[in-house]
Parts: sequence; C-alpha cells; structure tokens
Amino acid sequence: MTDPMIALRRVTKTYGPAAPPAVDGVSLEIAAGEFVALVGGSGSGKTTTLKMINALIRPDSGEVRVGGEAVDTVAPHLLRRRIGYVFQEVGLFPHLSVAENIAITPRLQGQTKAWLDARVNELLDLVGLPRDFAARAPRALSGGQRQRVGVARALAAGPRIMLMDEPFGALDPVTRDALGGEYRRLHDSLSLTTVMVTHDVTEAVLLAGRIVIMREGRVKADGAPAALLAHDDPEVRALIETPRRQAERVRQRLEAAHG
Ligand code: ADP
Ligand code: MG
Repeated sequence: MTDPMIALRRVTKTYGPAAPPAVDGVSLEIAAGEFVALVGGSGSGKTTTLKMINALIRPDSGEVRVGGEAVDTVAPHLLRRRIGYVFQEVGLFPHLSVAENIAITPRLQGQTKAWLDARVNELLDLVGLPRDFAARAPRALSGGQRQRVGVARALAAGPRIMLMDEPFGALDPVTRDALGGEYRRLHDSLSLTTVMVTHDVTEAVLLAGRIVIMREGRVKADGAPAALLAHDDPEVRALIETPRRQAERVRQRLEAAHG
C-alpha cells in the first residue's frame, strides 16, 4: 500500500493552559489527488489543522506526515517547496511587483533571471492574468486579481500539495464562483492534492470530492458530499443539505416573482 499524501495521526494542539484543545485528536489520511474541503464553524480548529500540515504550527502530540515523511524532520525550505499555501488575506508584499511576489520561493532556490521570467509568464497564463501584470504593484489589482497572484505564488515552486485557508472568502460572489471553478480545474490538470478550508458549504459541495466537518477541534464527519447527505447525525445532514434547500427556495421565489 502506498503512503497517503497527507496523514495526521491523533494530532492535538492546545494554545494555553486555560483553553480547551483547539485541535483534539484529529486523524486524517488524504491520498494523492484528493480535493478535501475542511468545513466548520468559527473556532472549530480548521486553520490550526491546516497549519500543522505545513508545520507552521507544531502539534502538542500526534504525528503529521507528508509524502510519507514526518513534517518535523523535513527542512522548512523543502516543505515550502512541496506545499503551496494560500490564505484569505493573500499577503502579497506591497513594495514588490507582481512578478517578484510570484517568484519569491523559486528565487530563493537560486533560479536564473531568465528561468524566473519564463516561470512567471507561465504562472500568469495558468491563473488567467495578462502577462503585462508582471510589472504592476499589488495595490494596482482588484481583490480577485490579487488572489490569482496568491495562487500563482503558491504554485511557483511546483508543489504537489496546496493548502488553502478561506482563499476566496473576501471576494464578491461572482468572482468567488469563477475563481473556485478555475482553481478546481488547475487542481485536476496539475494533479495536485488540495485541502481547502471554507465555511461555505456550497463551495465545499461544488469543489471538493470529500468534505471533513470539524467541530470543537474534532472531526465530526468525513466523506463524499453525497455520502454525508445520508450521515447518521441530523446536524451533518442539515449542513450538507443547506445548498440544495437554499437553491430550491431561490428557485421558488424567482418563479413566484415571475407570477
Ligand atoms: P478556525 O480556523 O476553525 O476558525 P482556529 O484553528 O483558528 O479555528 O482556532 C481554534 C481555536 O483555537 C479557537 O478557539 C481560537 O480562538 C484558538 N486559537 C487559534 N489560534 C490561536 C492562537 N494563536 N493563540 C491562542 N488561541 C488560538
Ligand atoms: Mg480559520
């Protein structure tokens, strides 16, 4: 049997002596090529879980393995290359151009200027931005364009794994929908393994092959969207049914309005 791409085994993290565990005995195995949505209320431990996968946070106990290796034995710069990370605030460096922001990780690998220029063009094409955006400052971009740059930067070193923390949460719904669909196609064409945190169940159902629902630091449910519709727990069923219920109400209201 091959190793899973990502494995968490009984991982626990508590931030302070008075606090309950932020993540409480979470075990997950994610195979290469999976697209997993991590869903749950605010404070349920989603971000902490994600940051333990790329070792930005160390668990108090339990084990995190990526590509068969324990993450705490992999040098941080190698981990950065293997795992792309995208988050809601994007975090572009304002004083660097779009190209410099995208190339930040491969530049640290010592790639030549010509290689970096070609790679930036390739990545701009990939995320659907015009090549002449390379020279722009981040402030000269819309929120959606900035997030495209964030995705390009995360992909620059050719990672096999992408971790995304509410990547499209700050965008308007039309941009959000477009970027989500485009990212799903990138995931497929680049054969990535993606873990995406979102509190939007519709986004999770539309994009992910598997949904992990977290609550109070624990995994409450884990399965394909259709399987979760038949889950034993009525709360889980209600959550996964929400998009369909809302779509049905929207349809009824629009039809009523047409009289
Ligand atoms: P989510 O991403 O699902 O909103 P988080 O993983 O960010 O959840 O947080 C889980 C819990 O841990 C919350 O109660 C949060 O307040 C707490 N927490 C997260 N980060 C820190 C931190 N750096 N210091 C103290 N408590 C934290
Ligand atoms: Mg979070």
